[in-house]
Parts: sequence; structure tokens; C-alpha cells
Amino acid sequence: SSKLRNDSAVQGTNDSSVLSKISAAQLGYCKDDYLAHFASKKARRSPLVNRGYYIRAKLIDYVIKEFLHQVSEGHSQIINLGAGFDSTFFRLKDLSLLANTFFIEIDFPDVINRKINLIKNNPILNEFCSDLETVKEINGNKVYQSLKSNLLLIGIDLRNSELLEAILKSIPQFNENLPTFLLSEVVMTYMSVKSCNGLIKWISETFTNCVLTVYEQINPFDPFGEVMCSHFNKLGSPLRCILKYPFEDDQKKRYKNEGFSDVFSIKASEFYQYCTSDKEKKRIDDIELFDEYEPWHLKCSHYILLSATKGNFCSEFIRNLY
Ligand code: SAM
Repeated sequence: SSKLRNDSAVQGTNDSSVLSKISAAQLGYCKDDYLAHFASKKARRSPLVNRGYYIRAKLIDYVIKEFLHQVSEGHSQIINLGAGFDSTFFRLKDLSLLANTFFIEIDFPDVINRKINLIKNNPILNEFCSDLETVKEINGNKVYQSLKSNLLLIGIDLRNSELLEAILKSIPQFNENLPTFLLSEVVMTYMSVKSCNGLIKWISETFTNCVLTVYEQINPFDPFGEVMCSHFNKLGSPLRCILKYPFEDDQKKRYKNEGFSDVFSIKASEFYQYCTSDKEKKRIDDIELFDEYEPWHLKCSHYILLSATKGNFCSEFIRNLY
């Protein structure tokens, strides 16, 4: 059916983002010693694409580390929604930053099953969570857990929040009242407006003390008002999603409408301009020959990092951060 074809096209976006992240890491834009284990080939992306992934990684790394710093020795949870083959768990574990953090990854069953196979067949990755095993299976939705490393992977369609909630509540280590950092890195854009808002609402109703951080594209129009991101057309619904909330302010209202108390956001362009040191900018400029400054600034003005919060602890630290 066209829904199935669409779902597999959406899952394919993970393969492409893995290769782009590896390309950026290999050239030294960002540090990621683990992602390359998730791909059988390498690709060298254009400098513009590498820079795009650099700024995305920097922004997300920045808020996650700040969250872990704030919870300090306290217990917390990180939930990566639509995690794909993302390596954040391995990177943070390697830095000994996850001692008291329950780390949960969620993606379609096919993607999670593939990820588990890759981890199990790679000695370096497997070393982190060698006790990873299937702890539950409901209608083909497999749940894998490693008690040793506080890791849970759930294969499920995020549009099915009822089942997701039932699965989470059946896991003894899960606690919806702990400070919880939920990440959605370029995922919601591939969901329809209705199911995406349903997910946002479910999060705001389930967690009492949380921050949902999303990295998404905004403002899909060129200066003449035409829709620019034509690649979205192929996947259908995303275009409607970005058109329903095209600007930063629309996005912010959306999360409030779905039950979050506070919403903060920053454009990638602002982060690069104001929060990146001259030394770091020079380091980036020296990596490879680059002269596409206009498209680079344009690209950065089309992406935001947004954090929607609930509960005093998360609202306070995010307010101070943005
Ligand atoms: N967040 C990862 C990253 O930034 O590297 C992967 C991003 S990739 C562009 C989008 C991911 O979202 C894919 O892995 C896809 O399978 C997942 N995804 C999209 N819609 C989903 C849904 N309804 N349920 C579960 N996963 C979904």
C-alpha cells in the first residue's frame, strides 16, 4: 500500500543521515567514534552538507550535556524519538555521563531490529551493552533491554502512543516523574500534522518534569513565496506539516497548544553567529575549502532547535540556557 511505501521511504532517511553524520565526523567537524560502526560504506558529502550536520550536532550536544550537567548526580531519563542509528548513547556512555540515566531509543521495528543486529555483531559496540536481550514482544514490536548499561530500545511506530505508553509503564526502570529529556532530531517532519500533534500531546500529558527538544526545518519559502523544499513532496505528509507551522512562532504556539508550559527556540544561524567562538569558526573554516557563505547562512536560518518544557526543574534550566 502507499502507506507502507511511505513508511519505508521515511525509514530510509535514517540511512542517509547516518552517512552524512559520518562524513562530517571523519573530516573532523564533530567527534563521533561510534557512528561509523553502523554503516558498511562511506560517503563524502559536500562542504555545505557537512556544515549543516556540524551545526545540528553542536546544538543538540550542547542541550543534552547541559541537561546531564543540571541533573548532576540525580536520576534522569533520555528518550530519543526516531533515534535511527544515532550514536548519542555510545558517545555519552564513553564520556561517563550516563551513570544515573535511563537511556531509551525508539524507532520503527525494522530500524530497531537492524540496529540491534549491528550492535550485537560489533565487538566495540557490544562491549557497552553485552547483556542486551529481548524483554518483550507485542505484535512484532520488540523491546530490548540492557540492565548493565541502563539502555532500552523499543521498535514501535511513534503514531501508536497507546501501545508505547503500555510498553513503557511495564518496564520497572521507567518513571514518568523523573527529569526526562526527549529528543526528536529531524523526525516529526516525516509525520502527519495530526499524528505528530498527538505525540506531542501524549508527551506533555505523560511526563511531569520534562523537556522535549526538536531540531526541525522552518520557513520553507524562498523570497518569492514559493515552497523550496521539493524533496519533501515525495514523502507526502511532511510538506503539509511544515506548511501548517512554517515559522518559528507558529512552532512555539503549537507546543503550547499541545500542553507544554514554556517553549524556547533558537535558529541555527543565531547559534552560529552568537554562541560559536571565533576560534571554533576558524577551526571549521580550516577543515575544507569553502566559499558558499550565502547558502550556508540561508540554510542555517531555515533550521531551529526548539525546547518545550514542563515542570519547574526543566523549565528553569532551559530558560537560563536559551
Ligand atoms: N534522529 C536520527 C538522527 O538524527 O540521526 C534519525 C533521523 S532520520 C531523518 C528520521 C528517523 O525517524 C528514521 O529513523 C525514521 O525511521 C524515524 N521515524 C519517522 N517516523 C517514525 C514513526 N512514525 N515511528 C517511529 N520512527 C519514525
